[in-house]
Amino acid sequence: MTDAPATTHDTLQRRGLMFILSSPSGAGKTTIAHRLLREDRAIRLSISATTRPPREGEIDGQDYHFVGQAEFDRMVEADEFYEWATVFGHSYGTPKAHIRAGLKVGEDFLFDIDWQGTQQLFQKDQQDVVRVFILPPSLDELRRRLVGRGTDSCDVIDARMARAQAEISHWDGYDYVVVNDDIDVCFAKVEQILAAERMKRARQTGLIGFVRGLMKPD
Ligand code: 5GP
Repeated sequence: MTDAPATTHDTLQRRGLMFILSSPSGAGKTTIAHRLLREDRAIRLSISATTRPPREGEIDGQDYHFVGQAEFDRMVEADEFYEWATVFGHSYGTPKAHIRAGLKVGEDFLFDIDWQGTQQLFQKDQQDVVRVFILPPSLDELRRRLVGRGTDSCDVIDARMARAQAEISHWDGYDYVVVNDDIDVCFAKVEQILAAERMKRARQTGLIGFVRGLMKPD
């Protein structure tokens, strides 16, 4: 057997992770997710499969893998999803194969999913999942942010507020909870969580060989 090099550049080889960001809508998750994808080249968005038709401007394989219901059902049957759900009459699922292969070679994936998807993913693969929940500083501030978007009517905002409170009740199903008082501070904390999680001993698959090398007498 040939030993793979324990280090690439100055970093030990490691297993990738599944980085989950959840929050009630308006708490800043999307901003943080986009910024993370822009600034951290080593993490990629997990692309779900869906039976929903593409919206204008959406690209197959980039926003979603757009599939027909028969193909989606076949994938469910063949156990090709980590998790799947029906949302507003359409099916959505996280395909496994691509992520499994990526994790093995140290790739990290970002998930923008709700608490139910998070729970399912965690049940399937506890060792690779890191769960981060973003909270608004107050309900008043959350409402201010939703109103400030200017995209929704009062009724829709009320519905989003009710949904937000239901979502917040699942805060204790996460490894980390960050209050988004200030977007820059919150983003910095999310980055720190990711950096520390990447360094976890259990993910550093190159450590065994590296330490063996350190202990070898010359
Ligand atoms: P949209 O159709 O607006 O892109 O997404 C509708 C909803 O489906 C969103 O709440 C989104 O989080 C959820 N969703 C997207 N992909 C997945 C997935 O792979 N699994 C689950 N459980 N939900 C998803």
